Amino acid sequence: MKTTVTRYHDFSMGHAVTGHKLIDENGNETLIKGGCYNLHGHNYRFYFTIESTLNKLDNVGRILDFNELRPSCVLGLNKLGIISF
Ligand SMILES: [Zn+2]
Repeated sequence: MKTTVTRYHDFSMGHAVTGHKLIDENGNETLIKGGCYNLHGHNYRFYFTIESTLNKLDNVGRILDFNELRPSCVLGLNKLGIISF
């Protein structure tokens, strides 16, 4: 039996992309600042899915304690450049 569980975490971050300029219809950079030029924030939702083919649950009925995935999630977000430490 295959069991799939998906969970998400919401997080917010701020940034400023000082070189962000709007591009015109010919693909040329304009002098107009893009939406990410000034310091501001974005909200994100990060989904992760685990799948188990083992027919075994832990003592509280889970295929895995998601807390065990936290370090991998943090490393993945760091690798994507979303967070840094
Ligand atoms: Zn932005």
